[in-house]
Amino acid sequence: MTNQSLIRQDVDISIIGGGMVGASLALLLSSCKCGWRIQIVDAQPMQTTQSIDGLESYFDARSTALSQSSREIFEILGLWENLSPKLTEISEVHVSDKGYPGSARLCAEEQNLPALGYVVENRWISSALSEALIEAEDIEIVDSAKIAELKAVKGGMKFSVSTAGVGKSREVNSKLLVIADGAKSETRNMLGIDFTVKDYGQVAIVANVSLSQDHAGIAYERFSDSGPIAMLPLEPIDGDYRASLVWTVSLIQAEKLLSESEDAFLKELQLCFGYRLGKLQRIGTRYSFPVRLVTSNEQVRSNVVVVGNAAHSLHPVAGQGFNLALRDVAMLANELAKAAVEGSSSLGEYSVLERYLDNQKLDQERTILLSDLLPRTFGNRALPIVLARNIGLLALDVLPLFRRNFTQLGMGLQTRGHELAKFRPLDSLVFDTGIRSDG
Ligand SMILES: Cc1cc2nc3c(=O)[nH]c(=O)nc-3n(C[C@H](O)[C@H](O)[C@H](O)COP(=O)(O)OP(=O)(O)OC[C@H]3O[C@@H](n4cnc5c(N)ncnc54)[C@H](O)[C@@H]3O)c2cc1C
Repeated sequence: MTNQSLIRQDVDISIIGGGMVGASLALLLSSCKCGWRIQIVDAQPMQTTQSIDGLESYFDARSTALSQSSREIFEILGLWENLSPKLTEISEVHVSDKGYPGSARLCAEEQNLPALGYVVENRWISSALSEALIEAEDIEIVDSAKIAELKAVKGGMKFSVSTAGVGKSREVNSKLLVIADGAKSETRNMLGIDFTVKDYGQVAIVANVSLSQDHAGIAYERFSDSGPIAMLPLEPIDGDYRASLVWTVSLIQAEKLLSESEDAFLKELQLCFGYRLGKLQRIGTRYSFPVRLVTSNEQVRSNVVVVGNAAHSLHPVAGQGFNLALRDVAMLANELAKAAVEGSSSLGEYSVLERYLDNQKLDQERTILLSDLLPRTFGNRALPIVLARNIGLLALDVLPLFRRNFTQLGMGLQTRGHELAKFRPLDSLVFDTGIRSDG
């Protein structure tokens, strides 16, 4: 836990929320070598590999399917090597609709990609990020902390921070405040930033499942009457084949499924999913997450930027939330570093933050649309919609160009033409700016 009396009082960039997005941003900013004093403030204690066995209490069993764009960003941060032994490459994706003929198969080889995605348990991403944070000398970590009295002041933001068990708080001035404290962001609320919620009335049940046969790197997305079932291939443990389940169901179904015995749950899952992965043998702890599309009505203000789930929390069915947020924060770091190199604007200046948002707008809109359309299309059992989506799946299966565009979108590669090109300066800035900020 952080020693409160040592917390820095003047920082360049303060990131509230050190989840996967806030932590990635801190590392991206650090890699820009602009001499910024970076601070991460998180409500929870810091996690490391050493503490990983004890994480069950608040750590979820989620896995993330990383896209090619996320791989490239983690490579820039030097984290990919660490993650490689823990991840499973997706060689194929099978999409099908239970009880209907439409189905589609996407193949990495056909798309000339090393993989269609990389599945890794969140705990490994978090521990890789935490370890890199601890090593970064320009990043201060303030954990088990709570912020209050947040307000705009001349040239930045001011807030008080108190750490668990310590009565007295400490004041911090920051030129740029990054809000990264998740979909329910208290910090966003403190600044009166409104948000829009679209409640799908669904719950995502997440668990690890052991299988009687090897998944062969195939990820399955199966749409059934009870909702979409995603089975993502995971690394085996002690020879046990495993998949990561995300089953999106109605609130009533979720209540029933979560209270059922392991055997009854597996039986129901097997009935809806079928035997593509052989017999489903065991299931780990089941966790549930409400499924909502939450979008912040403002993402940038002078000296303030909202990122990650605090900016947009998506339906998990398309597996895009983190991948999009990582592209966002890479673009943000890039724009901030460019502005620092040019020296024509101060840190947190609205025009720079606005430029970041303009660059990411198209990517955000497309990805949010995809994540919103999929559950609405596949959750609907009305005959015209069923027909349309089965035609869509058949088209996806037989039309190579359609398949290619769909894969590129899912892998975060459609942005490359216009948007990712702008990432390039990051690559060069990452290692050679060598300048100090104005602070
Ligand atoms: C079931 C499921 C499956 C998913 N699968 C995928 C996938 O395959 N691919 C993909 O790209 N995305 C996926 N996602 C989305 C992805 O998990 C999220 O986009 C990502 O975790 C968002 O990270 P974040 O850091 O913005 O927010 P969070 O993970 O919510 O982190 C917020 C952080 O802020 C801290 N915090 C909270 N309140 C405060 C406060 N007041 N003060 C200080 N700190 C605070 C918390 O302790 C936490 O560390 C999935 C989501 C779900 C629910």
